[in-house]
Amino acid sequence: MVEVFSQDYAQARQGFLAAAAGRGLIAESVLHPLKGARDEDLAMDSVLLGSASSESLLIVTSGTHGVEGFCGSGCQRALLGDEELLKRIDASKLAVLLVHAVNPWGFSHLRRANEDNIDLNRNFLEFAQARPRNGGYEELHALLLPQQWPPADANRAALYAARERMGHREFQTAVSSGQDSRPDGLFFSGTVPSWSNRTLRAHVKRHGAGKRRIGWIDIHTGLGPNGHGEKIYAGRNDAADLARTRAWYGADVMSYYDGGSASAEVKGSAALCAHEECPDAEVTLMGLEYGTVPFEAVLHALRGAHWLEIHPEAPAALRASIDRAIRDAFYTETELWQGMVLGQARVAILQAVTALARV
Ligand SMILES: [Zn+2]
Repeated sequence: MVEVFSQDYAQARQGFLAAAAGRGLIAESVLHPLKGARDEDLAMDSVLLGSASSESLLIVTSGTHGVEGFCGSGCQRALLGDEELLKRIDASKLAVLLVHAVNPWGFSHLRRANEDNIDLNRNFLEFAQARPRNGGYEELHALLLPQQWPPADANRAALYAARERMGHREFQTAVSSGQDSRPDGLFFSGTVPSWSNRTLRAHVKRHGAGKRRIGWIDIHTGLGPNGHGEKIYAGRNDAADLARTRAWYGADVMSYYDGGSASAEVKGSAALCAHEECPDAEVTLMGLEYGTVPFEAVLHALRGAHWLEIHPEAPAALRASIDRAIRDAFYTETELWQGMVLGQARVAILQAVTALARV
């Protein structure tokens, strides 16, 4: 295993803090009110590199989706050990904020959702405003979370038939675009801002104050071909913002607004808060989404994890197999995959640093 990657959340956190301390950086740790799976402390840890007074800020976040943090944590630790890239950051006089484990509870407990079953990348909504109901999810909820796990053949067949009927894109949108009617369901947006939402916003507001330009790379896993990092445009549906994101990162920045991305259109993603917290800054947002296993396997693992949360009586062996499946669905623990991940993250960070330094 490449040494910047970890076996669990506690090791990832320790490694991140040690790497920061090794560079003489003072980490800021906001403790989470709950404990981790092994009773360890949970926290959103962050460090600021480069020049705090710069007009430009690059934010790199990991673990917005809990268990996906194995990947993003490794990328952040690699940056903290990358002498050449750090020299460029210093020379560019940029500020770079690394936020480790935006959703520490999910990282530690091997869940994509947080302690309230909330998908953080659906939680950054204007809750006072009415939102359209996700009727497609309503239709599928009972099939996605059946009484029995693993699902019976009849359930598998019914879900397969629903997907055939709807078509893959519509099915994916119904399942994963976010819903607020089933608090125990998949991709639940929540109905109030979560702990991670409030904590992350406060960081962005404080570190983004007075900045003219903000770039943000939010690292994810679970969609697309194994080891490929899809650059997903994470900003508003705005042609100029999309064009600038492509100018930074290349023509292969995909957008879910035009159906080009492996992701369905998402509402309430975390990085959008940069617009709200730093309204005067030019904001360039990208998700770096690494492929792991096929969509069907990811969905199956997610369903199992959500099923387990509402069936705490499940026997230990079943619990262990569900936990293993979700870890594997969001983290390919091979040196090949890890190497691909680090290489592409390095390119993306270098592109952002170069673009922010140019102006
Ligand atoms: Zn994700």
